[in-house]
Amino acid sequence: MGCIVIVGAGECGARAAFGLREKGYDGKITLIGAEPHPPYERPPLSKDGIKQEAPPKYIADIERYAAAGIDLLTDAPVRAIKRSARRVELVDGSSIPYNRLLLTTGARARALPGTEHLSSRVRTLRTHADAAAIRCELVPGRKLAVIGGGFIGLELAATARGLGAEVVLIEGLGRILSRGVPEDIAVVVADRHQAEGVELRCDAKIERIDADDGRARVVLAGGETIEADLVVVGIGAVPNTELAAAAGLSIENGIAVDATLRTSDPDIYAAGDCCSYPLCHYGGRRVRLEAWRNAQDQGTLVAGNLLGANEAITSVPWFWSDQYDLTLQIAGLADGAATTVRRNLGGGAFILFHLDDTGRLLAASGIGPGNAVARDIRLAEMLIAAGKRPDHQALASPETKLKALLAA
Ligand SMILES: Cc1cc2nc3c(=O)[nH]c(=O)nc-3n(C[C@H](O)[C@H](O)[C@H](O)COP(=O)(O)OP(=O)(O)OC[C@H]3O[C@@H](n4cnc5c(N)ncnc54)[C@H](O)[C@@H]3O)c2cc1C
Repeated sequence: MGCIVIVGAGECGARAAFGLREKGYDGKITLIGAEPHPPYERPPLSKDGIKQEAPPKYIADIERYAAAGIDLLTDAPVRAIKRSARRVELVDGSSIPYNRLLLTTGARARALPGTEHLSSRVRTLRTHADAAAIRCELVPGRKLAVIGGGFIGLELAATARGLGAEVVLIEGLGRILSRGVPEDIAVVVADRHQAEGVELRCDAKIERIDADDGRARVVLAGGETIEADLVVVGIGAVPNTELAAAAGLSIENGIAVDATLRTSDPDIYAAGDCCSYPLCHYGGRRVRLEAWRNAQDQGTLVAGNLLGANEAITSVPWFWSDQYDLTLQIAGLADGAATTVRRNLGGGAFILFHLDDTGRLLAASGIGPGNAVARDIRLAEMLIAAGKRPDHQALASPETKLKALLAA
């Protein structure tokens, strides 16, 4: 196979690099990252990882890359892919040849237009450096304004409250978590944030943000001004597709790949947050996921495919979020659901099963303290993958083991 180059040293790129070795590849592997750190876990950045000044939580110790014969280049953004020469070109002017190329360039936080120049008072959260810059404001006596009631904003709000900072969360729509989370679960999350002292402002349209060295002011439509020491914008992420687009690869809400994660160039693959792919179990509709386990699964699968396995991705999307002592988990995609069945698990935990009009299980969303919903969500994932049409009463009854439905 010659040499394999991986551009993007995050969750997916690191998994793919080690996956290549696990699958017996003994050629050259170069893993190239733009950040100054070896690959690290991003989920802790909005949770415990932002609480104290510490190095990132590395996916693997630096010695493991050397031991596995993986050339890891950090602080080394790739600026171009020269497809005809089969080389990638780095910003320092050097270039590296490849026989097969994997793009795991991930995503970046979406900026709020017009605030880019207010960098010290208006921030986003995607990297270890972002978390380090936000951390110093998460203390008693400081006020944080979070823009966007999505997962990252809400997790950061929970962490900030835990550290004693005042928090106002501003959401433009009528409720938080409007993308992919059922209202019943969003209500539990919203109530908990309010009980913990977060000021939730839904249906709040932002007109502009002003900031000077000391304070930021979020001006809402209607004129009301919310003052804060720091504004953190959590309004989603944008896939890093520029390299691929400039090289002429197909882009469709991410680097477009087929079910084997191959791009429109047969020697270039893409995986993780940066790519969109046809989702098995859902009629092959094209999706782009921003989820930790997806990055892992795709990294492992694509390693085999770079070596010729030609295997299609079949995993069911799965996502989790931790806020206070609550864990929310979602398996599958609920859009297109005709019916929802609720299973109460006790202690406030519950799961919603979403089924289509033929009775097929499409998704399951659950919330509860700690890992209260984990086992049932895992089994729901298996039911979804198996294309099961479970009985509604059995789903609703906590006495019925989901495992039994799987065997049925
Ligand atoms: C704060 C936070 C909390 C999260 N919490 C959860 C959670 O609770 N549950 C969950 O399921 N998911 C969570 N996620 C999402 C999860 O972390 C991502 O889905 C995962 O990191 C995606 O991995 P990736 O390797 O595809 O992309 P990334 O992790 O984004 O890695 C891509 C890497 O490529 C690098 N890169 C980009 N362009 C270039 C270039 N031209 N040259 C070289 N390098 C380049 C980037 O700098 C980056 O380091 C969270 C994400 C964030 C930011």
